[in-house]
Amino acid sequence: MVVPYKHEPFTDFSVEANRKALEAEIKNIEADLGKEYPLIIGGERIMTDNKIEVVNPANKKEVIGYVAKANQELAEKAHKVADETFDWWRKTKAQFRADILFRAAAIIRRRKHEFTAHLVKEGGKPWKEADADTAEAIDFMEYYGRQMLEIDKGAEVNSRPIENNRFHYIPLGVGVVISPWNFLFAIMAGTTVASMVSGNTVLLKPASSTPVIAYKMMEVLEEAGLPAGVINYIPGSGKEVGDYLVDHPRTRFVSFTGSRDVGTRIFERAAKVQPGQKWLKRTIIEMGGKDTIVVDKDSDLELAADAITYSAFGFSGQKCSACSRVVAHEEIYDELLDKVVTKTKESVSYGDPGQHDTYMGPVIDQAAYDKILSYIKIGKDEGKLMAGGKGNDSKGWFIEPTVFADLEPDARLMQEEIFGPVVGFTKAKSFDEAIEIANNTDYGLTGAVITNNRAHIEKAREDFQVGNLYFNRGCTAAIVGYHPFGGFNMSGTDSKAGGPDYLIHHMQGKTTSEML
Ligand code: GLU
Repeated sequence: MVVPYKHEPFTDFSVEANRKALEAEIKNIEADLGKEYPLIIGGERIMTDNKIEVVNPANKKEVIGYVAKANQELAEKAHKVADETFDWWRKTKAQFRADILFRAAAIIRRRKHEFTAHLVKEGGKPWKEADADTAEAIDFMEYYGRQMLEIDKGAEVNSRPIENNRFHYIPLGVGVVISPWNFLFAIMAGTTVASMVSGNTVLLKPASSTPVIAYKMMEVLEEAGLPAGVINYIPGSGKEVGDYLVDHPRTRFVSFTGSRDVGTRIFERAAKVQPGQKWLKRTIIEMGGKDTIVVDKDSDLELAADAITYSAFGFSGQKCSACSRVVAHEEIYDELLDKVVTKTKESVSYGDPGQHDTYMGPVIDQAAYDKILSYIKIGKDEGKLMAGGKGNDSKGWFIEPTVFADLEPDARLMQEEIFGPVVGFTKAKSFDEAIEIANNTDYGLTGAVITNNRAHIEKAREDFQVGNLYFNRGCTAAIVGYHPFGGFNMSGTDSKAGGPDYLIHHMQGKTTSEML
């Protein structure tokens, strides 16, 4: 029996011992900088001539590592290994697979600050964000392990006196997991281990800006008893390796988290039935958001301002759940805006994420930096710049926390995903209109409503069309097993990571009926 699931607590860095522990690990990491990391195919380490240079986004000169880069030939080799491994892996006991995750979670928990320090460096995450990312990786392992044990019990179906009927879920086959750089540990680990624990074999292609943490996870899983060939680590380019794997006729499903452009491309390509393909590929796709916090006239404005500031600027707005739009009732609009601007200027310290009191670090790379600054330029035409607006990429990719006021609901800044520390304000005449504006996007991932009005909470519960809706709090920071996470519309397939039915997306139902 396993103990009931509880999420991993966050570290309190106001405690000196905790602060010292992470500081020491950040120092330790420095000894590891610039190391080389091979591919892992069938347990075999394979070094390639071509390598991905991974840098610290807060300090471009600091190379985190050089990671081997797969090509199509190596991707094919990995696919073959995964396919062959599936033959026997699919028959392993759920308990055996879940136990690997429980052991891996225990290993990570023991070395928690080491992983968190790595995320500070590779992801440019401030301490609090990096700590939460490590905690969430542990949570996914603990939660999906337990979910698998539940699913393994099978579901109730009726039998008659003349027959014995059973219904249970079996794995799908070879899964391609393409993971994002923003939750470089948690989402990478979650999507990979969900595929594995449900009995599939995996081709893991982590984001090219953050592949080292995925290598570190592979080492942990191996230590925890994962047999060779079950998860194969093959970083590489999306166009060359990603497309090849998605198109492959022996790929049974694709689990992707990332941008809308890439997500829709994968969805289309996976839908095409290739010569020799024997199934319709499953896709589990999590894309972006244009997430809104609605602030009602009867509401706690201090709470609203804190929720907006953290949801917009935590990890530099680089969460698909980040608040990028505020719709405020006209009666409180000015007061709320003023509070958010003051908090942004006074309490969102930004700079080196290696320092414990940094609120906001850099953005991930040059492309992100350029894109965000181009939106800030657009914002200056569409609205009124109230805070921030400048960038500095001399050392790392830093952009000030930025607030725009007086935007039209259909302004580009209010419609297009920026994925950076930029939040726009617009005004509504009534609560009904605020919900209409909130729904006026292609996305439907997260949202929050700040109100003291019970009827308005109930209206939003019905009419605010997002996968994760929060009341009187911010719109980020879903916790595995507490807030199943995923969105509607162009936010993805709403497969609800960290929820009770997530694993089922990686499986298929099988009925057997035996005449007695
Ligand atoms: N689950 C995260 C949250 O609730 C966001 C995940 C993402 O950005 O992909 O904040």
